[in-house]
Amino acid sequence: MQERRFTGEINPSMTGEKATLKGWVHEIRDLGGIMFLILRDREGFAQITFPKKKIDPDLLEVAKRISRESVITVKGTIQEDKRAPNGYEIIPEGITVLNPANSPLPLDTTGKVGAELDTRLDSRFMDIRRPEVLAIFRIRDKVLTTTRNFLNEHGFIEINTPKIVATATEGGTALFPITYFNREAFLSQSPQLFKQIMMGAGLDRVWEIAPIFRAEEHDTTRHLNEATSIDIEASFVDYEDVMVLLEDLIATLYTSVKEGCEKSLSDLGIDIEVPKTPFKRITYTEAIDHLNGMDDPEISEIVWGDDLSAACEHELGRLIGEHYFIIDWPTGSKPYYTRPSRNPEISLSFDLMHPRMELASGSQRIHEVDLLTSRIDAMGLNPDSFEFYLRAFRFGMPPHAGWGLGLERVLMTMLALENIREVVLFPRDMKRVSP
Ligand code: ATP
Ligand code: MG
Repeated sequence: MQERRFTGEINPSMTGEKATLKGWVHEIRDLGGIMFLILRDREGFAQITFPKKKIDPDLLEVAKRISRESVITVKGTIQEDKRAPNGYEIIPEGITVLNPANSPLPLDTTGKVGAELDTRLDSRFMDIRRPEVLAIFRIRDKVLTTTRNFLNEHGFIEINTPKIVATATEGGTALFPITYFNREAFLSQSPQLFKQIMMGAGLDRVWEIAPIFRAEEHDTTRHLNEATSIDIEASFVDYEDVMVLLEDLIATLYTSVKEGCEKSLSDLGIDIEVPKTPFKRITYTEAIDHLNGMDDPEISEIVWGDDLSAACEHELGRLIGEHYFIIDWPTGSKPYYTRPSRNPEISLSFDLMHPRMELASGSQRIHEVDLLTSRIDAMGLNPDSFEFYLRAFRFGMPPHAGWGLGLERVLMTMLALENIREVVLFPRDMKRVSP
């Protein structure tokens, strides 16, 4: 007998060869004279065929008693069968139950019985056995690997910054406090300050993929309280340079998923289109001029300086219909580290937008310590609590720019999924901290 093979490693041209498969009992179909056991593994399905008259009766008895979702080993002979998944079936010679599954099952893995997202998340281990759910996580893996390779090839160094921090990155209250020995500390909402310090350390170009924690009381389909951020920071570049890097990354991710995840896309029943670069750039001022010219009751008059609501994002998305950048935001609507342009009211900043929502925010940063200190002050924050950060700006900080891209938002928009929780193994939101 050969070593264990995945279902996807076998094909009809191997007819007559022996094979050992290991996986889960997806379904048993007893049609009287013939019985089929569908074995499922990570790569797909295999049909185990029991022609009752020809099969050892003991083996048939074992097979009949196996409960759905039990873990089994099947040894048998490969045979071409055009009607079976992948065009082959296995005529079994031996079956071992490695671990039986209880019944009833918490979820149906065959997709015949639908379940609410909450129920699915409660039994995530079983939910992910469904090929269309597993497909999402295979694509997530592809997106992560492609991002890492892309940034490596562009000369970026991977860093790991602390997730336990003493101060808020951007002030505000959206932080989870933790007890840190006899002090208060927080879960990090962004690697922003640390990646900037690394510009002062001379690393030149850095990236990090890590969790960000936001205590905002959002209850939407695009917010999590623990999300994954793809962050970069680069020295001696301007914000246009990092926008080009970002749009190239997005196009590269779509291409690599389209070309490298064909089976997963087909399990999800979708096709994706690679967005064309360069993406459109519209200024914040153009965006609000357009929105204020609309006669949409959901969009009230926008005063220069206001943030753009979800309704505004949707309207712009409808208008543009593909990925785009909103650039040159009012200085006051962006964090203190964002660099103002010659007109101090307008900042050198951008948001990358998918027609459905924001995917990333970035900017040229302030590198002069006096300007930075006065911006921190102007935002009502205490510069003293940022001393660990400001120090790096006093001893040779190069000009720099960067962005933070939400991994889950990239995935949910790429795969046209309604809820961000679909792309996270164990989502954390206001109601859910377990499993
Ligand atoms: P939004 O306005 O959509 O809530 P934000 O502007 O507060 O997002 P940033 O601080 O700019 O978010 O973070 C950079 C990126 O990280 C966002 O563009 C988004 O893709 C992702 N992100 C931020 N917060 C969340 C969250 N709570 N859940 C999921 N992704 C998030
Ligand atoms: Mg943002």
